[in-house]
Amino acid sequence: MKEELFNKKVSGWENISEENKQNIFKFSDEYIYFLNKVKTEREAVSFTKKMLDENSFRNINELEAIKPGDKVYYINRDKTIYAAVIGEEKLENGLNILGAHVDSPRLDLKPNPLYEDNGFAYLKTHYYGGIKKYQWTAIPLSIHGVIVKANGEKISVCIGEDEEDPIFTITDLLPHLAMEQMDKKLKDGINGEDLNVLVGSIPTDDKDASEKIKLNILMLLNEKYGIKEKDFVSSELEIVPAFKAKTLGLDKSMVAAYGQDDRVCAYTTIRALLDVNAPKRTAVCILSDKEEIGSCGNTGMESHVFDMFISELLNKSGENRPNLLEKVFCNSKMLSADVDAGLDPIYASVSEKNNAALIGHGIGLNKYTGSRGKSGASDANAEYVAEVRSIFETEGIPYQVSELGKVDVGGGGTIAYILANKGIDVIDCGVPVLSMHAPYEVTSKFDIYCAYKAYHAFIK
Ligand code: MN
Ligand code: MN
Repeated sequence: MKEELFNKKVSGWENISEENKQNIFKFSDEYIYFLNKVKTEREAVSFTKKMLDENSFRNINELEAIKPGDKVYYINRDKTIYAAVIGEEKLENGLNILGAHVDSPRLDLKPNPLYEDNGFAYLKTHYYGGIKKYQWTAIPLSIHGVIVKANGEKISVCIGEDEEDPIFTITDLLPHLAMEQMDKKLKDGINGEDLNVLVGSIPTDDKDASEKIKLNILMLLNEKYGIKEKDFVSSELEIVPAFKAKTLGLDKSMVAAYGQDDRVCAYTTIRALLDVNAPKRTAVCILSDKEEIGSCGNTGMESHVFDMFISELLNKSGENRPNLLEKVFCNSKMLSADVDAGLDPIYASVSEKNNAALIGHGIGLNKYTGSRGKSGASDANAEYVAEVRSIFETEGIPYQVSELGKVDVGGGGTIAYILANKGIDVIDCGVPVLSMHAPYEVTSKFDIYCAYKAYHAFIK
């Protein structure tokens, strides 16, 4: 009876076939390649555009009309991308949507970042998203982003990823002299204004000049990029860990990398979309920006650009009529593809073991997120949860239903509520992660492959 009645929890690796294991490892190698090419939202969008272009997707702006089977995408300001495979049914009947985000916690350069102090040149930063500041000192860092000159010329920057490139770092105090620092609360151990990136120490030869090290750095930047100090004000330069994404563990079962929240779900949703041809309902993928700071701004999910994209689908399919967009949304279904907090045995006290996502046990479903009594959660309806689990059970995809930590221990949110507010049925569905938001995050290769399978089953 126990065998029949219990909701069993088993590791996906148990009794796994050699063939399945090889599929999982091969997929993960491709994912690791992606992570090593992509460390910012802009890089994620341009990599994704390339994948879509190579798989006969077209920019919707170039098309006069669309028909079932067509594959289209729209790029919003190089930081968000929406892609769709047009289904046989009318759009009016609703869409099947996967929504992930491609921004990750990091340090952004301030508008006036460069200064010199006692023999060193530094770049000042303002952190982006929820970070533990102490994790960002004494690690190798790289600089990624764009500088846009007043004449509109856009310069791409990526320093610290190639083997020959220099890297950067933020120094920390030696333990010998850190008595006062060590007595502080962990959150106050490193001051936000002290997250200054070390970038140089050689002065120019001009003995009459002041700030000779800063001058030397500006001369190098001017030589390489043709920029002046003022051009920093119209730049978006992001400081990210220079670590390579790698296979983790003697058994090679996991992936360690920066930015897996949420590029693990972004990559698997796009891979799922590439494998969809002529679906019944139109399949849509969202790769959003600004999730880590509240989904605000014109590239965040709160903006109306996504509505505009769906309106374009309605216009170009010839289906549109007044107020049809709201109806499309009310008939739509979505997996909010964002990572889940995996149970970490070292910090097990923050998780409730019956309702925690376990690494290597399959894709995680979060019926609700939020904090302090589900506040801010869209909380999926039981009917919809049944529909989603039925897809996974039919397709034999391992899944687990969990919540983010113990009651009142903390909380969090995703883009789910924003789409739910439009009338869409939505549930969070993603890969469990250890060390979430740290410079080096951990996932299980088993769960990554499950995510791809689950997303594919949902949209096909
Ligand atoms: Mn996330
Ligand atoms: Mn996050």
